[in-house]
Amino acid sequence: MEKIILIKYGELTTKKANRNIFIKTLNENILNSLKRYDVKIKKDRVRMYIEAKEEELEEIVKKLKNVFGLHGIVICYKIHNNIEEIQKSSLKKIKEEIGTTFKINTKRADKEFPIPSMEMNNKIASTILKETNLKVDVHNPDIMLHIEIRKDFTYIYTKEEKAVGGYPVGIQGKGMLMLSGGIDSPVAGYLALKRGIKIECLYFESPPHTSLEAKNKVLELAKIIEKFGGNIKVHIVPFTKLQETIYKEVPHEYMITIMRRMMYRIAEKYAQKRKCKIIINGESIGQVASQTLSSMSVINEVVKMPVIRPVACFDKLEIIELAQKIGTYQTSILPYEDCCTIFVPKHPVINPCIQKAKEYEKVFDYETLIEETIEKIETVDTEEKDKYKEYL
Ligand code: ATP
Ligand code: MG
Repeated sequence: MEKIILIKYGELTTKKANRNIFIKTLNENILNSLKRYDVKIKKDRVRMYIEAKEEELEEIVKKLKNVFGLHGIVICYKIHNNIEEIQKSSLKKIKEEIGTTFKINTKRADKEFPIPSMEMNNKIASTILKETNLKVDVHNPDIMLHIEIRKDFTYIYTKEEKAVGGYPVGIQGKGMLMLSGGIDSPVAGYLALKRGIKIECLYFESPPHTSLEAKNKVLELAKIIEKFGGNIKVHIVPFTKLQETIYKEVPHEYMITIMRRMMYRIAEKYAQKRKCKIIINGESIGQVASQTLSSMSVINEVVKMPVIRPVACFDKLEIIELAQKIGTYQTSILPYEDCCTIFVPKHPVINPCIQKAKEYEKVFDYETLIEETIEKIETVDTEEKDKYKEYL
């Protein structure tokens, strides 16, 4: 009796028009996340079936739990649509489980199969009652035995693992994530991936004010979220010159406001260059002076591209909980300075004014500086292991 993995799709059912692209993208993403295994994937409109070596099935299920677009994952017996075989494997499956009560749930998707679902439930239940000491409990059974009779085969399973849900990464196109070494932006990236957005990352560094460790930490974070969205490109922006100019030319209370306006300008320009449709960042309302609503509007004013802030309305504790769940927290709290923390003024403005921001920016030629900075951006792909290692 062959054991395989059966997959139930995520939010697909409500989005019929996108079904094909959803399934195709999901298929590619699954293959990508399982490339170390020898697997065969078959798919239809409602299910995907993965065949692999039996001893690797559990490990594969673990991997699949990080793939967005899946709703449920089960390891099941795959058998022919034949009543004797169904009886035999139902008995085998139920004997593998622990418990004293059971219920049978037959789904007859193949209407050509001659026995209706209710009758199948009774037939299989009576076989089990005869051959074991188990009892039926239709309300609160210890063991729920599912029998899915589909066109070519029947699938028998008990436990269903809940998957992460969301949309397959890529079906919404690309977004540019402003990735710092903090707690918030990797979580923002994870949430964007969950909605089907493929991400590339932009990291602003200001050596020698920021260290190599700070950069490595960001690359490490990208590597951690890679397991949810395939390889990730990290574009490293040399921000020193702009940052030092701001430090020299701008009243210190407006330093962060202007710095972030520069970051946004660069993010938009580079996002366009990389064919990203949106900017994503880890801003959270009220967290710091630059994230009050008035600060956000003065900063946001310099770009036209939509800016998505997945954790905008989360409490810090909620963000931390998610960071722990996805595995970025321990890396995020490593103590390396990033460029924001070094150039922090004592009293940053909480209610900045657009006119003043514009005035302060006039005193230096930021457009040229931005062009120069963008030209010097370097890219590291988390998949290019060798190049990546040089940085670690
Ligand atoms: P923390 O988790 O400590 O709040 P943070 O990374 O969120 O750290 P903030 O100062 O709150 O830092 O910055 C808000 C957002 O701006 C970040 O979530 C990130 O998206 C972006 N950002 C800040 N600094 C950088 C940087 N050096 N490179 C890229 N993006 C940055
Ligand atoms: Mg933050």
